Amino acid sequence: MSAFDKLVTASLPLVPKPIVRRVAAPYIAGEHRDDLLRVAADMNRSGYAVAAAILGEFVDRREEATHAVEEYASLLRSLSEHSIDAYIHVKPTHLGLKIDREFCLENVRALLDTAKPLGLFVRLDMEDSPCTDDTLAIYYKVREDYDNIGVVIQSRMRRSLDDVRELGKVKANIRLCKGIYLEPHAIAYTDPEIIRRNFTLLLEEMLDAGCYAAIATHDEILVWEAYRLLERYKVPHDRYEFQMLLGVTAPLRQLIRDAGHRIRIAVPYGPNWHAYSLRRLRKNPAITGYVLKSFLSGKG
Ligand SMILES: Cc1cc2nc3c(=O)[nH]c(=O)nc-3n(C[C@H](O)[C@H](O)[C@H](O)COP(=O)(O)OP(=O)(O)OC[C@H]3O[C@@H](n4cnc5c(N)ncnc54)[C@H](O)[C@@H]3O)c2cc1C
Repeated sequence: MSAFDKLVTASLPLVPKPIVRRVAAPYIAGEHRDDLLRVAADMNRSGYAVAAAILGEFVDRREEATHAVEEYASLLRSLSEHSIDAYIHVKPTHLGLKIDREFCLENVRALLDTAKPLGLFVRLDMEDSPCTDDTLAIYYKVREDYDNIGVVIQSRMRRSLDDVRELGKVKANIRLCKGIYLEPHAIAYTDPEIIRRNFTLLLEEMLDAGCYAAIATHDEILVWEAYRLLERYKVPHDRYEFQMLLGVTAPLRQLIRDAGHRIRIAVPYGPNWHAYSLRRLRKNPAITGYVLKSFLSGKG
């Protein structure tokens, strides 16, 4: 981490809440479910599918996880009632992974039970490395009974090639991303070029194994690499999609949409935007850099 990054990270708690709110605004639908429904409907009208999430992570009280399950269940029903083209993605630690894995597993099952009759899909996000084994264990367990579940692989992690090869055996629906959490060099690549090349390698493994590929990146080189591999493997349009975050690289997402590829935008909402924004900014100073840049340039 550079001296500037350290300074920015250390100063984050001093930034007044309204400024953090303004800076975070393009990336978050709002505080309420109605905000999510409005932004998601707008996205659908513009030709994008949506991945909806409630902001929250690392809860340490059972009531918080139970509340998250209830809110997610209501969200699933609202998405269905409003015929919005969306699925949900959830952080296992929001559903109590750090409290008790079995408790989290039951919460994931509850969501899948709600989603299944509505024809909706649930993706388990991948969090930092202490969560990886437990998240994959939950995925494999529920995969025995449900097909409306997907998982995430991070190209930053050294273990990911082995994980993709295992997931390939069950033709998992995988979202591939670089990974937002800064991890020790012993278990993660830290060179951006290796993280990129590993992304391409993992995507090729996924396509070769017949996995559904959700290609989550704003990095145009990786979008180009994905086009190349999709062409080479003659992947049908219903076997892959691109994914991006709300508020990030809108021109690139338009190019992908206009080229005829399915693309899904991750849209988060909820009252926990402040804690989430600070945690996210602190976790990755590179993102802090983007955020400050957009704030200072007046786009925040
Ligand atoms: C739909 C989706 C789901 C994700 N799920 C997970 C997950 O479950 N687990 C996980 O660890 N990570 C997740 N990520 C985050 C991901 O791992 C990366 O941290 C993030 O996407 C940045 O990597 P990149 O491939 O876009 O490349 P980068 O090189 O980081 O970014 C390319 C360009 O995109 C722009 N950019 C990227 N991110 C931002 C941002 N936040 N704000 C403003 N500009 C930005 C910048 O202009 C940058 O130059 C997800 C990302 C997406 C898009």
